Amino acid sequence: MKEALQEEMMDLVVVGGGPCGMAAAAAARGAGLSRVLLLEQGDTLGGVLPQCIHDGFGPEQQTGPEYALDLRDQVDRAGVIVETKTTALHVSGQGPYTLWAAGPHLGAKQIPARSILFATGCRERTRGQLRIPGARPAGVFTAGAAQWMMNVQNMLPGKSVLILGLGNIGLIMARRLTLEGVKVKGIVGERASGLMRNYVQCVKDWSIPVYWGHTICSIHGRRRLRGVTIAPLNSAGQMDLGKKQYLPCDTLLVAAGLIPEQALFAGREDVAYLDGSTAIQNGGALFACGNAVRVYDTVEEVTAWGAYAGQVAARRLLGAADALQTLPPVGVEARKLQEADLVSLQEEDTLFCLLCPKGCRLQFGADGSLKGNGCAAGARFAEEERSAPRRMVTATVRLLGGAQPLLPVKTSVPVPKEKALEVARVCKRLKVQAPITRGTVLIPQVGGTAADLLAASDG
Ligand SMILES: Cc1cc2nc3c(=O)[nH]c(=O)nc-3n(C[C@H](O)[C@H](O)[C@H](O)COP(=O)(O)OP(=O)(O)OC[C@H]3O[C@@H](n4cnc5c(N)ncnc54)[C@H](O)[C@@H]3O)c2cc1C
Ligand code: SF4
Repeated sequence: MKEALQEEMMDLVVVGGGPCGMAAAAAARGAGLSRVLLLEQGDTLGGVLPQCIHDGFGPEQQTGPEYALDLRDQVDRAGVIVETKTTALHVSGQGPYTLWAAGPHLGAKQIPARSILFATGCRERTRGQLRIPGARPAGVFTAGAAQWMMNVQNMLPGKSVLILGLGNIGLIMARRLTLEGVKVKGIVGERASGLMRNYVQCVKDWSIPVYWGHTICSIHGRRRLRGVTIAPLNSAGQMDLGKKQYLPCDTLLVAAGLIPEQALFAGREDVAYLDGSTAIQNGGALFACGNAVRVYDTVEEVTAWGAYAGQVAARRLLGAADALQTLPPVGVEARKLQEADLVSLQEEDTLFCLLCPKGCRLQFGADGSLKGNGCAAGARFAEEERSAPRRMVTATVRLLGGAQPLLPVKTSVPVPKEKALEVARVCKRLKVQAPITRGTVLIPQVGGTAADLLAASDG
């Protein structure tokens, strides 16, 4: 049962209900704090996860909504007090602190707290911050905003899209748009920063053109975007305008990186950043963690650091002698795309394992033997990828009578790669009636495959 927010002092207020904040709040309760409040400005807990309908989250490679639901269960079971639709606005005091917050349920409120943990995530770098020259027509979005429109609000950003940025969000959106029937004209990027597995599954699988070492030199269009001029960068990092080219498109997605959201604690010197990069300061009880501190590639790392942060905060308040010596968790090794790997991707005897973020480079010898797999599952993957590659399909379907217009769905098992588009088309046509619980089979043997189409969230 939800506990009402009282006027009394909170032991810990966690600001931000993404994976970091949820893990931190649950861990702080588990470590012995009585009154832990989790504040989230959005309608539900989950942070960026509800819009990330693709799989690849956590050791079980769940979808974002599934991973978020499991963490919400942990928060519930731990007895954390949760307030959604509530924005933290300001922090005052030197300990104890006062957190100023506002929202439609609470109104404006000053919340007394012995300790505060900022898990406020990231915001996206915009076109303005990149200073891309040219006109200012409609049709230019950040990739995360377009992801929210498509996966949560049921709106397509456009019909022919160019993506700027070779990070994970750009790569993932390239596949998502393709599966929804949008023409992806290409991805333009100065350098790669996304994970290898995302590059293979989201770009190479769909033969999407990649303009490596290029950038945008101008945006064209009056009311609506009509095209973009791109040019390669020379060794001095300047645009080579002699080689510029015009690419017609009605939409540009800017996927040019994330910036830790620190507005709430910027300028305060008494905040301990819990990411292992700095020593934890003695004294205060203000902490920051997760993407609010630095941008992580995988949710496992964020969750692990969140849980660590919750424990550190609890131990500090409970006066544990080793409060500052708690060991940080070990990070998850993730293989980023390197330009050199592009050569390997062309080699017939080389593959990259897609089963986990490590992305092992798998190489077959002339005698058929396999090198490079970090575990036995990689060997099985390699055999299958050579003979009959399969992929998970994740999508959304129309939800009638639910709180949201869309329900995230996924195939129960990977389907033959050549069937993925057909399964996505089935999802586009499907309408289901709320209420539906996660795991419900919506279509058995979807698209003539051996996989069932499952609800990947409650709706
Ligand atoms: C597009 C995308 C794709 C990804 N794909 C993968 C993947 O496939 N696999 C994987 O492992 N990881 C993936 N990640 C990474 C992972 O999802 C993120 O690293 C993780 O969600 C970060 O967690 P967080 O809790 O720090 O921040 P967030 O999830 O951003 O949560 C922060 C929360 O704080 C709230 N907030 C902010 N300010 C306030 C305030 N003032 N008051 C109240 N609330 C506030 C926000 O509303 C938000 O809900 C992806 C990330 C993105 C963006
Ligand atoms: S071989 Fe094993 S460790 Fe390597 S990427 Fe595949 S699943 Fe991960």
